[in-house]
Amino acid sequence: MLYLTNNSYQLVPFFLPLYPIFQRLETVYITRREHFNAAHKLWREEWSDEKNEEVFGKCSNKNWHGHNFELFVTVKGEPNPETGFVINLKDLSVIIKELVIEQLDHKNLNLDVPFLKGMLASTENLAIEIWKIIDAPIREAGGQLCKIKLVETENNYVEYFGGKEPF
Ligand SMILES: [Zn+2]
Repeated sequence: MLYLTNNSYQLVPFFLPLYPIFQRLETVYITRREHFNAAHKLWREEWSDEKNEEVFGKCSNKNWHGHNFELFVTVKGEPNPETGFVINLKDLSVIIKELVIEQLDHKNLNLDVPFLKGMLASTENLAIEIWKIIDAPIREAGGQLCKIKLVETENNYVEYFGGKEPF
């Protein structure tokens, strides 16, 4: 018993530098969902029809097709002592709707969306571009963007953490 007690005392200095991590226990992750539908086509002009179909499957359909996208924006922070909010969800919704949904809803992603010009309109690229657009406005509203989840079909979705490792 005495031996174990001595051992645990020896461990204390080792763990001391980790103490600040335990002070951040009140970090909360909050998510807002928004919806849009849009058409696109995944296609490389320099490839043959066969190769486009082989690589992009149904998303290579020449005459376009659409998806009902679900966009989940996750923000982290500590609840404000006055409001209890990490970020006001109304503010977050306005940011997403005005800056992203307005530009994408009922649009052709290949033809109608300036910030996607010249790139493949894949769900991956879309998630990265959405991050770039709303990162700063969310920070100005008091939150920290930490994840974009973009659901393309009930079986497929992508998650983007701003180029950082998620955990
Ligand atoms: Zn598609």
